[in-house]
Amino acid sequence: MTRRGEFELIGDLFAPLSRGTPGAYNLTDDAAVLDAPPGRSVVVTTDAVVAGVHFFPDDPPDLIARKLVRVNLSDLAAMGAVPWGMLLAACIPHGTEDRWLEAFAAGLAADRAEFGVDLIGGDTVATPGPATFSLTAMGLVPTGRALLRGGARAGDLLYASGSIGDATLGLRACRGTLGLGEAAEAFLVDRYRLPRPRVELGRRLVGVATACIDISDGLVQDLGHLCEVSGVGAQIDLGVIPLSAAARLAVAAEPGRIDMVLGGGDDYELLFAADPAAGAEVAAASAGAGVPVTGVGRFVVGAGVRVIGPDGRDRPVVQGGYRHFGTPGSGDGR
Ligand code: ADP
Ligand code: MG
Repeated sequence: MTRRGEFELIGDLFAPLSRGTPGAYNLTDDAAVLDAPPGRSVVVTTDAVVAGVHFFPDDPPDLIARKLVRVNLSDLAAMGAVPWGMLLAACIPHGTEDRWLEAFAAGLAADRAEFGVDLIGGDTVATPGPATFSLTAMGLVPTGRALLRGGARAGDLLYASGSIGDATLGLRACRGTLGLGEAAEAFLVDRYRLPRPRVELGRRLVGVATACIDISDGLVQDLGHLCEVSGVGAQIDLGVIPLSAAARLAVAAEPGRIDMVLGGGDDYELLFAADPAAGAEVAAASAGAGVPVTGVGRFVVGAGVRVIGPDGRDRPVVQGGYRHFGTPGSGDGR
């Protein structure tokens, strides 16, 4: 596989990332042993990335690793869970440079420190195919209180965290098709490459939000998923969707780009529902997490997502969210 064999890889690169969890036995046993603290349930999620599909083989390895960690932590955040541990299945092409793997492990180490979550196990295999990494993340949530997609009710308000559309615009900037200034493009590219999972906000929304989802496939598409499970419809007010300064520049230059904001994926912001009477609690969660939260619409009796323009008229929704088994070229690649 590399000049290091499987066991040297595990011992040198991965075992140091397990040290905070005694039950991981320094990755020298067959599996890890964990006890959930009393009153906590374990939330588990997996996401995989494949070279040529989710990242380019020449992308910086540390960023590939960090994005993989972060998309998983974003799923935990959407459930209101606090990160607890992660496992990595690494399928490494023959001939991969040790330097590449060291940089990948350094990315894992950086986010392990940033989010306080150990790597407690996994698997390491050589593959004749493209590099493939599958990360499983576990989180803890007070038992019975995980944030679900199914709890939104007609009359609830719709909120979004952070800013929407940056990542899909950042992908366009990577491809050189945006034509903005350097600083704005650098901001957007960073938002695409290094998502900020809203872990602290998610944790604080437990008991406040009635439903929650993270935006991975696009605002409209992911809101549609939440609506479907909740059995309600939703209206988004186009004029109040939170845009970063850079995204505002991009849309001002080409107003049609607002469709990218509505349809583009990879933002990893939280989209959630809350009772109108819970406004103060939502504001407190936002302030406590240090993450802005914006009211962007409401839930209604019915089904589906409507986007209402500043003129009060319905805006046709362009179906732009990513689907792996959908029409080729219909989205951004995740
Ligand atoms: P087995 O052959 O019994 O599956 P392995 O030799 O694959 O055991 O793994 C030995 C230990 O190293 C296990 O604790 C496993 O969880 C851990 N491990 C293997 N690969 C990884 C990896 N990529 N990341 C983290 N831990 C790993
Ligand atoms: Mg194994």
